[in-house]
Amino acid sequence: MAKYVVKFGGSSLADAEQFRKVKSIIESDGKRRYVIPSAPGKRFGADTKVTDMLYDCYDAVTNGGTPEKEFKAIAERFDGIINDLRLDLSLENEYAVILENFKNKAGRDYAASRGEYLNGIILANFLGFAFVDAAKAIFFRNSESGGEFDADLTNAALTALLEKERYAVIPGFYGALPDGTIKTFSRGGSDVTGSIVARAIKANLYENWTDVSGFLAADPRIVDEPKVIRVITYRELRELSYMGATVLHEDSIFPVRAAKIPINIRNTNEPSAPGTMIVHDAPEDGDTPVITGIAGRKNFSVISMEKDGMNNEVGFLRRILTLFESQGINFEHIPSGIDTLSVVLSTAVIEKHPNIIELINQVARPNHIEVEHGISMIAIVGRGMKERRGTAARIFSALSHARINIRVIDQGSSELNVIVGIKESDFEKAIKSLYDVFMLSES
Ligand code: ADP
Ligand code: ASP
Ligand code: MG
Repeated sequence: MAKYVVKFGGSSLADAEQFRKVKSIIESDGKRRYVIPSAPGKRFGADTKVTDMLYDCYDAVTNGGTPEKEFKAIAERFDGIINDLRLDLSLENEYAVILENFKNKAGRDYAASRGEYLNGIILANFLGFAFVDAAKAIFFRNSESGGEFDADLTNAALTALLEKERYAVIPGFYGALPDGTIKTFSRGGSDVTGSIVARAIKANLYENWTDVSGFLAADPRIVDEPKVIRVITYRELRELSYMGATVLHEDSIFPVRAAKIPINIRNTNEPSAPGTMIVHDAPEDGDTPVITGIAGRKNFSVISMEKDGMNNEVGFLRRILTLFESQGINFEHIPSGIDTLSVVLSTAVIEKHPNIIELINQVARPNHIEVEHGISMIAIVGRGMKERRGTAARIFSALSHARINIRVIDQGSSELNVIVGIKESDFEKAIKSLYDVFMLSES
């Protein structure tokens, strides 16, 4: 029988009413067997996510204070859900252990992970599913060997554990180091847990339930009611998530992509909406739009250099790249011309290496070099671009109509995206005008 992994984000589990919606979604389809909860998120705009409350509570301890007062507010959120749902469950013993561990400085990751852990216990009780602690099945390597996620060990452990459970809740966001110390993924990491579990149990589908009815073609904070993308490929999604479309954690693509498991983004508050399907290959037909989505990020800088005869100088680019490698500097793009080369990198990276210009001058001796800060990068992404002529021209004309000057342009070799760099003050205007040209004219 087919089986699905279903992940519910923080807003989907923010209070008892949301828990009821989640239960009814799960019970409406018997294939929804492995459930990944986040910690309770915001119930209203000015509310605080439980994860943030836990970080604050733990920081109070490391700053020499005590956790009791702040922890009380956290326990109240969980107890509120338990009481509203009339569950026969008490977390008092768990709270005592957690408070003790906070006082013994069990770590900031441990602290943050308790949101998912406790919410998982409540959800498992409410659904009548087994609770499987992620610390027993999701593993990271020792920090001496990089500290990163250990995919092979995890996959074997998860497969073995979940084979025994027909229905289970596995809390998102965290796992353990070889010595048992709790470690989390980066923020939003419950999406990654869902993807890892989907791979381990060879799920037919990974449903990611959130508070929007799918992946939107542009950031809803910039464009009014953007269209929902119905189908998107992993590669397109990766480009968009990397460039700031934050619906799904960017690392959640890898485990499912290898196993070709599709992801369906759904809305807990509108379960009848089909949402967005994220797939390995999407059929190319006449209906494929040229552009699937637009996303962008601020805070980039561009180092531009010019040198007469650069194109004939063997090793110019190599010297720059070697310098970056030896300094541990990562960059985003390197658009080049005959005698010019630009390097786009995040402003935070330049700030960490204030002598970078001096070093470039030493190794590459350009005639001219300058740095411009306050650049935004916008990715215009679409698998339909390859088949259609004139996409770049339409991008230029949209931006020039909006009187926006393009500082950098780069086209990915996959012909899946065009990236433009513009001044930060033009960011919102640029996204809106690109959206209008590509999305509104094609419906
Ligand atoms: P969850 O808590 O369910 O994991 P997130 O807050 O991580 O949810 O992600 C969903 C949010 O992502 C939406 O509420 C929306 O504000 C934001 N968002 C940013 N860009 C996009 C986009 N292109 N499409 C949909 N949502 C987006
Ligand atoms: N609760 C964690 C966070 O707020 C993880 C998640 O929600 O995915 O980042
Ligand atoms: Mg999220």
